[in-house]
Amino acid sequence: MDDVDMEISNSKDDVKLKCKMCLKVLNKHNKNEILIQCGTCNGNVHPSCIDLTLDMVPHIQSYAWQCTDCKTCAQCHDPADEDKMLFCDMCDRGYHIYCVGLRRVPQGRWHCQECAVCANCGSREPGGANSDRNSVAQWQHEYKKGEKNTRVYVSTLCVPCSK
Ligand SMILES: [Zn+2]
Ligand SMILES: [Zn+2]
Ligand SMILES: [Zn+2]
Ligand SMILES: [Zn+2]
Ligand SMILES: [Zn+2]
Repeated sequence: MDDVDMEISNSKDDVKLKCKMCLKVLNKHNKNEILIQCGTCNGNVHPSCIDLTLDMVPHIQSYAWQCTDCKTCAQCHDPADEDKMLFCDMCDRGYHIYCVGLRRVPQGRWHCQECAVCANCGSREPGGANSDRNSVAQWQHEYKKGEKNTRVYVSTLCVPCSK
């Protein structure tokens, strides 16, 4: 399967890649949707078939993403303890809660250390660039109102920038 990236003729519809979840070329709304490829099994999946949003796609494509079947912890590379695994809401990397120093799965959004950056000042610490490592500051996620009163994620700020 090394030549999946090689040129595939787009003139014939029957060579189009299928999603390994729904086994179709088009997504569940019968629309064209980008397929993301697992770096482990090379399987292709529609982001919507595994409840990922399209704004995650550029982050997912920036590394060797793993599908649900292949998912291992990005910290210890162990696939065990699936029920203690936490998924980044930006890049979908999986982490055991104990591998990132948490006792339980946090409420709401969670960004892994690769993705946790203040959109305003670029700080990698939730308490801001000058905070000490022991601060209890939490990342401030900003939302706007979307369709049907849904919350649409906009950006993440450190505590000083969100004030
Ligand atoms: Zn699908
Ligand atoms: Zn896979
Ligand atoms: Zn782990
Ligand atoms: Zn991430
Ligand atoms: Zn900031």
